Amino acid sequence: MSDDGLYARLMARCEECGDCILWRGSYTANGHPQVRVLGKVQLVRRVVYQLKRGPIQPGRVIVLKCGERGCVKYEHMAQYTIKQVAQKAAKAGAFSRPDRCAKIARGCQRSVNAKLTQEQAAEIRGSAETQRALAAKYGVNKSMIARIKNGTAWRQMAVGASVFTLGTL
Ligand SMILES: [Zn+2]
Repeated sequence: MSDDGLYARLMARCEECGDCILWRGSYTANGHPQVRVLGKVQLVRRVVYQLKRGPIQPGRVIVLKCGERGCVKYEHMAQYTIKQVAQKAAKAGAFSRPDRCAKIARGCQRSVNAKLTQEQAAEIRGSAETQRALAAKYGVNKSMIARIKNGTAWRQMAVGASVFTLGTL
């Protein structure tokens, strides 16, 4: 795509805002900056990207790293495959649904503590009995008692709990 002053014309319709350049022209129904170029309505970010960074590979999408919806600054853009977008979104928790998170939380808890309840774990932590005595009392091995006492098991449970919280927000 050749420039012909197009980039300057696009930038004339923007406003600097902090580190971003925000589009002051029209937007698509989905909230993406749009502009008519050569008689055709196009997405501003894709136009800017092609002018300043180069061609967009088939199937790739332009992602904004700053997260500012109206931003059209090419330095803030990256070219991702759909798969990469899905992976990033999953990492950020966007695809986390309460049912899925509950499953993860249950999974965490199960792997940490197959035989004990959280209440029993709390009792173990507060107990002054020896690890050997506690292992016999609760029917688990000594290493599990040690993990509960030193907090390893509890930390993993906390991770499960926070995943659940995230999904229910
Ligand atoms: Zn930006």
